[in-house]
Amino acid sequence: MAARYKRKQEQAKLAKEAIRHLFVEAEKASVRDDVLASKHVKEARKTAMRFRISLTSGQKRSFCKNCGHFLRQGKNVRVRMTQHHLVFTCLDCGHVQRFGRGAKKDDGVVSSP
Ligand SMILES: [Zn+2]
Repeated sequence: MAARYKRKQEQAKLAKEAIRHLFVEAEKASVRDDVLASKHVKEARKTAMRFRISLTSGQKRSFCKNCGHFLRQGKNVRVRMTQHHLVFTCLDCGHVQRFGRGAKKDDGVVSSP
């Protein structure tokens, strides 16, 4: 049992790394190929679900939960700051996501285009 638990933990670690990599690839791909970027996002979310890994706040903000598109600032997302939230509007499907501003102001998401 213990060994099995350990293996699962190790797999989760690998999965986390894979997810991180997929988001990096998605960002790269989003410059020229939205379809490929969305594919990477889909794969990353699937992997996260399979291993029950929660995505980082930066990762959660980088795609639309509704249409699954990778959100690239200045391209297909509008970011607004209200008093309590960051509001991300997906320009591909119009879906609105709100995020608490929280402590992580400096992860690069808020910068103006
Ligand atoms: Zn969308």
